[in-house]
Formats: sequence, structure tokens, C-alpha cells
Amino acid sequence: MKVLITAGGKGTRLKSLSGELPKPLMPVCGKPVLEYVIETCKSHGFCDIVLLVGYGADQIKEHFGDGSGFGVRIEYSLEEEPLGTAGCVKNAAALADDDFFLLHGDVYSELDLSLFFKFHKEKGALASIFVHGSTHPYDTDIVELNSEGRVEGVLHRPGKDERFVNLSNAGSFIFRREVMELIGEGKQNLERDLFPLLISSEKGLFGYISDDYTKDMGTPDRFAAVEKHIVVKQFVEERKGTKKAVLLDRDGTLNKEVGLVDSLDRIELLPGVAEAVKVLNGKGYLLIIVTNQPQVARGMCSIEEIEAMNARVKELAEAEGGKIIDVFYCPHHPETQHADAPYSEYRKACECRKPQAGMILEAIYRHGIDPGKSYLIGDSWRDIVAGNRAGVTTIFIGEKEGLKKRADASHYVDGVLKAALEVIE
Ligand SMILES: [Zn+2]
Repeated sequence: MKVLITAGGKGTRLKSLSGELPKPLMPVCGKPVLEYVIETCKSHGFCDIVLLVGYGADQIKEHFGDGSGFGVRIEYSLEEEPLGTAGCVKNAAALADDDFFLLHGDVYSELDLSLFFKFHKEKGALASIFVHGSTHPYDTDIVELNSEGRVEGVLHRPGKDERFVNLSNAGSFIFRREVMELIGEGKQNLERDLFPLLISSEKGLFGYISDDYTKDMGTPDRFAAVEKHIVVKQFVEERKGTKKAVLLDRDGTLNKEVGLVDSLDRIELLPGVAEAVKVLNGKGYLLIIVTNQPQVARGMCSIEEIEAMNARVKELAEAEGGKIIDVFYCPHHPETQHADAPYSEYRKACECRKPQAGMILEAIYRHGIDPGKSYLIGDSWRDIVAGNRAGVTTIFIGEKEGLKKRADASHYVDGVLKAALEVIE
């Protein structure tokens, strides 16, 4: 199966970073962004690549050649003049096969292409599009799905008063060959010209929802976030840390979960927690809290109030002489409703909210932790998925039913103290 990758961008918005380089050659942590895209393809066994080149074609060909230096096979489709985001695809029709991917050569993505393709085949779709929660939902194309996952419409840059589910076009597609026939001649745009035809076609356009890390680098802030992500990822994968740690969820793990814990007087430590903290310190573990606090995004309390509650939990948990060295919290929530509520700037998708591994990876990086020697204790499937993603050993202390089919923890015990005494060596 072929992978078509658009590689004709000039990189105007990030000119200060890319200079005169074609956008796909823009270095990210010292390596052209297109190399990361090709590595993702290769890691899923998709090694037949067609680069759709235009601006800077010679520089791109010189860097990538026939792909043999990168462990893939690369062909080129040259746009003599700009044909738009869909026109360049039609231009490569002779090189495409029955189903093919279309990826952007300037978007950093760790999308699981194998799962995406499985979804596309199961739906029998004419086209599939990868959608995810956006970190900038009011500045993007929101994709509207029906209950079967079929795309019913696209909302371009929604207003703050509009109601929508935060799912945006993440710039990766799978098309059946017939799509080529729907694309008109000359300059054609994917979203403007092709999407309406796909949406109204019999077999349809389906949205594949995933939270696999993917970020465009359209602003300096997003570019910096991708570089930071790569640095942290390499630190974790190369096991550069040496310390051992136990990462602790907060509500329901350390203190009682009484609805959404939104004020200091609702903080009540669970039995055995202070003793567990002391025991774990005694076994040589660093202790770190990693907690989702969407109450901020929901307008229920401020950052200052969350930090005061975190400090109270920490103080109570340290009462028997143990020490918690750091607290990471996520104030975000991906839902976009009530954009007029206080603190609505936190209503967006992010990389820190569990089940994403962002907070855990950041803790590993900042404190020099070896995930292979470390644990996570939590009472929700989100904790366990996040811990598994970060490569730490997971301990579930909630009702086993609560995990349902979402995740598998390494250990199941009743409470933090038991975990400290019986599971963690
Ligand atoms: Zn977050």
C-alpha cells in the first residue's frame, strides 16, 4: 500500500525557523520533519512512498533520493505549477494503488497507521480521515461525525458561541482509488472541493478518532511544543533516567473521591496513605502526584484553588514523615461547551490529561526517572492507560469492574498501603 506525502509547502508562517528551506526539510530537533513522517510509515511496514513535490523539489530529492538510505522506497510526483492540496493528489494518480494514505510532510505525527487502516477497511469507506481533539479548537476545521463515525459536515473556525464536539481534521487520510475520479482538473483544494463530494458520496467519509500524538507546527509555540515532546520521548525511550519513582493519582487514590473535588473542605485523606508514603520513601522511591483537575476548565475553581488543594493533599500525605517531591496537574478539558464560563481558556485538548502520558513523561524527564524501575498507582482506567503508555508498572486500586475492557493493569490491590507493602519491592 502506497503512502502519498505532500511535500510542496513553502513554510511561510514559520519562515523565521525554516528560512528558505522547503517546509518538509524544516529541522525539528536537528532532523527534517519529513524524516519523522517517513519513520512513522516505516514503523508500520508502509515502505512504498510517493513524495508530492513542487517548491524545493530538487532539495527534497537530493536529501531523500530513492529512499534506500532511510529503509524505504521513494518515488516522486512533481507539480509543475501549484495544484492545491487535492490537485497534487490527482497529479499522482498513476502512482497510487487501490487504497492509499495521504499524509502531510510537515505535520509531526505518531499516528498508528495500522489501526487507522484497519478502521478504514472495517467501515468500507470511500475515504477516512484522522480526527482528534484540538489544542486550538477555535482556530481550526471541526469535523462533525454521526453515531456511526461518518462525517456529516465540517465547521470552519467555529465561533465561541457555537456548540460542537472538539474533533478536528488532523491532516491524515486514507483514500480509495475512486477518489481520484472525484477530483476536478487544475487547482483543487481538499477541504473546499473534495470534502463535500466525499461526504455526499454513497460510501462516505469516515472519521477515525485517536489521541496518538500529532501536531502541526503552524506557530512558533506549537513548533516548540513538538521539539520538547521529541526531547522528552527520546529521554524516556533511551532510559536516560536512573531514579525509581512511584507516580500517584490524587482523587480516589490519596484522598476520598467525593464527586469532583473542588474545594479545600472536601479534601479527606484515605486510610493508610500517609503510612504508605513513608514506606515507599523508605524503599528508596521518589513520590510524585499526577492528577487530572478538569474543574478548572469547567469553571468550578481557579488554578490557585487547585494548587491550594494539591498542597493540602501533599501536607496530609506527608504527616507520618514521608515526602512527596512534586505535583503535576492538568487543568484542561477537551469539551468546548460553556466557552463563556470562567477559565474557558483551559477548554481544549492537551497532551497532559490522562489517559495521555504527558504528565508522567514530563515527571520522568524532569526528575531523571527510569520508567522500568517505577510504578503508577491509580483508581481509574485513565491512570492505567497513561501509565502503560509511559512504560511504568501499573497498579490499579479501584473496582476491577471500573477498568472494564479499556486497560490491563500489572497489579490489582486494595488501596495504596497494600500496594506499598505487598507489590512494590
Ligand atoms: Zn492538560
